[in-house]
Amino acid sequence: VRHASDRVAVMYLGRIVEAGTEDEIYEHPTHPYTQALLSAAPSPDPALRDNSERILLEGDVPSPADPPSGCRFRTRCFKARDVCAEEDPELRIRSASHPDACLFSEERQVVRPV
Ligand code: SF4
Repeated sequence: VRHASDRVAVMYLGRIVEAGTEDEIYEHPTHPYTQALLSAAPSPDPALRDNSERILLEGDVPSPADPPSGCRFRTRCFKARDVCAEEDPELRIRSASHPDACLFSEERQVVRPV
C-alpha cells in the first residue's frame, strides 16, 4: 500500500489494483486483494478485531517476471472465474467512486465499525 498525499494506492505484482482516498480504501474497498489485505491487518482495538471478517488467501505470490495470464491476482483470488484467466482488467472506475482493476469488483466492508 502506497500513500501519496491523501490518496492511497494498493499494488499487486507491480501494478496498482485499487486507488482512492483513505476512506474509500479502508471503509469501502472494492478489489478482492485490498479486501484480503485489510482483513489480515492487525487492529490495536480488540472490539474491531473481534468484529472483523478475515479473508485468507491461498497459494504463493507468483513471480512478477512470469505473471499469470489475464488478471495477475487470479491464482489467489477468492472471486476468480474462468474469464479472469483471459482478460487483464485495467484500472478504471466501475461501481464505486474510486478506480480498481477487477472484472467483478464490489464493495465489501471487511473492518466493521463497532
Ligand atoms: S478480475 Fe477476477 S481474478 Fe482478478 S481480482 Fe477480479 S475477480 Fe479476482
